[in-house]
Amino acid sequence: MSDVTETQLLSDVPSELFIGGRWLPARAGETFSVADPATGRDLKEIADATPSEAVAALDAAVSSFESWSRTAPRERAEILRRAYELVIEKTDQFALLMTLEMGKPLAQAEGEVAYGAEFLRWFSEETPRVSGRYGTLPEGNGRMIVTKHPVGPAYLITPWNFPLAMATRKVGAALAAGCTVVVKPASQTPLTTLLLAKVFEEAGLPGGVLNVITTTDSAGVSEKLIADSRLRKLSFTGSTPVGVELLKQAANNVLSTSMELGGNAPFLVFADADLDAAAAGAMEAKFRNIGQACTAANRFLVARPVVEAFARKLVERVEALRVGRGTEPGVDIGPLIDERAVEKAQTLIDDAGDKGAHIFTGSQVLPATGHFLSPTVLTDVSSGSRILNEEIFAPVVVIVPFDDEEEAVRLANDTEYGLMSYAYTQDLARAQRLIETLQSGVMALNAGVASNAAGPFGGWKNSGKGREGGLEGIEAYLETKYTFTPNPF
Ligand code: NAP
Repeated sequence: MSDVTETQLLSDVPSELFIGGRWLPARAGETFSVADPATGRDLKEIADATPSEAVAALDAAVSSFESWSRTAPRERAEILRRAYELVIEKTDQFALLMTLEMGKPLAQAEGEVAYGAEFLRWFSEETPRVSGRYGTLPEGNGRMIVTKHPVGPAYLITPWNFPLAMATRKVGAALAAGCTVVVKPASQTPLTTLLLAKVFEEAGLPGGVLNVITTTDSAGVSEKLIADSRLRKLSFTGSTPVGVELLKQAANNVLSTSMELGGNAPFLVFADADLDAAAAGAMEAKFRNIGQACTAANRFLVARPVVEAFARKLVERVEALRVGRGTEPGVDIGPLIDERAVEKAQTLIDDAGDKGAHIFTGSQVLPATGHFLSPTVLTDVSSGSRILNEEIFAPVVVIVPFDDEEEAVRLANDTEYGLMSYAYTQDLARAQRLIETLQSGVMALNAGVASNAAGPFGGWKNSGKGREGGLEGIEAYLETKYTFTPNPF
């Protein structure tokens, strides 16, 4: 159990902007407050950056780019490794901070610290491995030298749902590649990124390589930076509509872009599946992070002969979930991020109900304050229901039966998104077919979770472009140069 106190932790988190290696209050003295979604209580007042302060952060990233990009890979790797060790050492602080500003249960926040830190270790290990190639041209008249170069200063925008991991997944790769960065966390959960910047300072990262701006004017700040021709990379994680808007802005300077966007993951359960394993995996895929994950199972497609048995097993488990403030021991489901999220989920549930769905809400007692929603299971959901087409982002299970594999795959792929899919089957040939037929960038086969720093993560279709993590993660921050030189003989 953590012996970190909330008061001590919150006073340790900087409230300023981190620009050029210095902590600076917002020039206009503007601040905004960050609230605990479980209580509505204000946690901390922090600097509210204007677009001109964002440009100052980019100035710092631009001036430190040359020296950082020429810093020996081993040295860059060692700084990332130290940052990894410091994050692990401060697991209790990072976990409690995420629980406070985002709401996830403490045990899950600790899980995110391990997962998020791993990107720093993974990319520290990959830093010295960036390499090019050398070859003879087919005509034999010359040589080809292929070299890799950091793309340039990068702007990294992160969402509120995984405050640490979404930052380290970008920052680790960018710094490994030799890029300098300006990070803009979501205004609802900026404290974790500020603590992360402090860790990088302690790890010996030179000033200006990593800059953090916190702001309530995400549109104004981002537009200004993206229009600046010195910026060469935009990496965004968030909703598809915002990603599309940013892609349009990025087109003007033909920026290198990486987009990690929304999802509508299908979770397929075939009649030959181990139903207990599928129900356990379903709980993880649905309720981790209070259902607020881009990878969250959005639609449970279940073979008709086992649909009742599967629903029963799920309802039993849902009944046992404990809803409450994430800091309380034994809590499985914390609050949603804000009241808008509760209202949106409720609207989707009501719409499905109006169209004939059977709604099971369980008997959980919700805390009196905070943005809580009872974990809910919907069965008999009819095909026109909005809940099948929209990202729910809440602890709501939607079960739809299917008659055969062809129908299951058709329903699974019947969405504009393609980030994540899950399938439970014990039939090897079917499993192999599903790897070929399900349209998603990531798939969990007989598992409720797939994310790993070593795996290339990213979406097909409207779920994004590019990959984070894995060998592909650094590639996103590199340019390639082909040099021709005549035959030396
Ligand atoms: P969001 O509203 O799109 O916000 C994401 C980030 O963009 C935040 O930092 C936000 O800042 C900023 N932002 C909002 N409007 C902007 C604008 N007009 N111009 C520039 N920046 C803007 O998404 P969210 O609600 O935070 O996150 C949930 C979404 O992210 C879901 O759709 C989820 O599926 C997706 N997600 C995807 C992945 C993935 O890896 N594919 C991972 C996690 C989440 P402010 O909050 O300060 O406005």
